[in-house]
Amino acid sequence: MAQQTIETVTPLTLFTEDEILFRDSVKEFAEDQVRPLVREMDEHAKMSKELVKKLFELGVMGIEVPESFGGAGGTFFHSVLAVEEFSRVDPSVAVLVDVQNTLVINALMRWGSDPIKQRYLPNLATNTVGAYALSEAGSGSDAFALAARAVDQGDHYLLNGRKLWITNGNEADVFIVFATINPEAGYRGITAFIVERGFPGFTVGKKEDKLGIRASSTCELILEDCRVPKDSVLGEAGKGYKVAIETLNEGRIGIGAQMIGLAKGALEHAINYTKERKQFGKPIAEFQAVQHQLARAATELEGARLSVYNAARLRDAGRPFLTEAAMCKLLSSEVAERVSSLAVNLFGGFGFVKDYPVEKLYRDAKIGQIYEGTSNLQLQTIAKQIMG
Ligand SMILES: Cc1cc2nc3c(=O)[nH]c(=O)nc-3n(C[C@H](O)[C@H](O)[C@H](O)COP(=O)(O)OP(=O)(O)OC[C@H]3O[C@@H](n4cnc5c(N)ncnc54)[C@H](O)[C@@H]3O)c2cc1C
Repeated sequence: MAQQTIETVTPLTLFTEDEILFRDSVKEFAEDQVRPLVREMDEHAKMSKELVKKLFELGVMGIEVPESFGGAGGTFFHSVLAVEEFSRVDPSVAVLVDVQNTLVINALMRWGSDPIKQRYLPNLATNTVGAYALSEAGSGSDAFALAARAVDQGDHYLLNGRKLWITNGNEADVFIVFATINPEAGYRGITAFIVERGFPGFTVGKKEDKLGIRASSTCELILEDCRVPKDSVLGEAGKGYKVAIETLNEGRIGIGAQMIGLAKGALEHAINYTKERKQFGKPIAEFQAVQHQLARAATELEGARLSVYNAARLRDAGRPFLTEAAMCKLLSSEVAERVSSLAVNLFGGFGFVKDYPVEKLYRDAKIGQIYEGTSNLQLQTIAKQIMG
C-alpha cells in the first residue's frame, strides 16, 4: 500500500471548489434529466438516446480529455464524482459514463499515439460512445486466456473471434478490442486494437437480458475477418496485457464509485421512507432498531466512500494504488449489496415492487461483485500485495 509522505494533508471528504461545482452540476442533471427516465429505461432495458446526447452536452463523456481535444480537462477524481452522482440515481447511466471515462478514454490517453489521440479523443469527448472488449465466453477471470486471433497481413490485421459481455455495445462506435497475435506466446501475444463499428467484418451481436443495470447494454461482438489497419494498434503489438491490466486497475475505482453512489441512493430512499411510513402509531424511523440499522448502513457507506476517494486521489497523485483499488471495489460492492438489501427490508412489501425505487437498486448492486474482476479476484490481488 502507498505510504510515501506529503507536505500537506486534507481530509478525503473535502473537495476543491471546482470539484464541488462539477459534482453539483452532475447531481442536478441526474435529478432533472435521469430520474424521470429510470423506471422506463429499466423496464425496456434500453438507454435513452436523447439522454446519451445530453450526457455529451453536459461534458461528462470526456472528463479527462484535455480541453485542446474538446474535453473537460478534468481529473480521475472528477470521473469518480460523476459516476457516484449518476449511480445515486441510476447505476446504468453511471456505468455508461464510467466505461467511457475510466476504461476507454483512459486507455487512449495513456497508450494512444498522437495520431490516435487526434483521431479519437475529440469525438469521444463530444459525440461518440466507446466500449472496452476483453472478456470472451471462455475467458473471464482468466482474461488472458482469450481466443480472439489477430493475423498480421502486412498493412493491416485480420481479427477473428467473439467478445462477450461488452458494456455500451449498442451505443458505442469505437471499441478497444483485445486479441492475440501469437497464441503460443500466452499473455505476451495479447494486443489492443481500436475497432470502429463500420470496419468490415465487425458486428455487434446479441444483447443480454440482465438481472440489473438493465438499461446498460451488454452485448456480444463478432469479428469475422475484421480488417483493422496497422495504425489502429493501441500501444505496442504484444503489449496489450499491459493496457488491460493498467486500465482495469483504474476502472475498478470507477466501479467502486458506482457502488457507493448506489448505496447512497438506497440509503436516502430508506431514510425518507422510514420517516413517512407509520406503524404502531408512529413513523418507523422512530424505532431504535430501525435507527441502528440505518446508522450501521451509513457507517459502512462512509468507510467504502473513503476507500474509493483514497484510491482515486492516489491515482491522481501518481502514487501506487493497486491494492487500494482492489480493496475499494471489494468493499463498496459488498456495502452496496447490504445497504440496498436493507432498503428493501425497510420498505417492507413496498420494497419488493417496481413502483418503488429500491428493488431496482438491489438488483443493480449485484453486478459490482462480478465485473472488472470478481470479488474473489480482488481478494487474490489484495492477498498477493499484503503477503508479498
Ligand atoms: C453486465 C456485465 C457487463 C460487463 N462488461 C464488460 C465489458 O464492458 N468488457 C469486458 O471485457 N467484460 C465485461 N464483463 C465481463 C466481466 O468482466 C466477467 O463476467 C467477469 O470478469 C467474470 O468472468 P466470468 O463471467 O467468465 O466468470 P468466471 O471467471 O468463470 O468466474 C466464475 C466464478 O469463479 C470464480 N473464480 C474464477 N477464477 C477464480 C480463482 N482463480 N480463484 C477463485 N475464484 C475464482 C469467480 O470469482 C466467480 O465467482 C461484463 C459482465 C457483465 C455481467
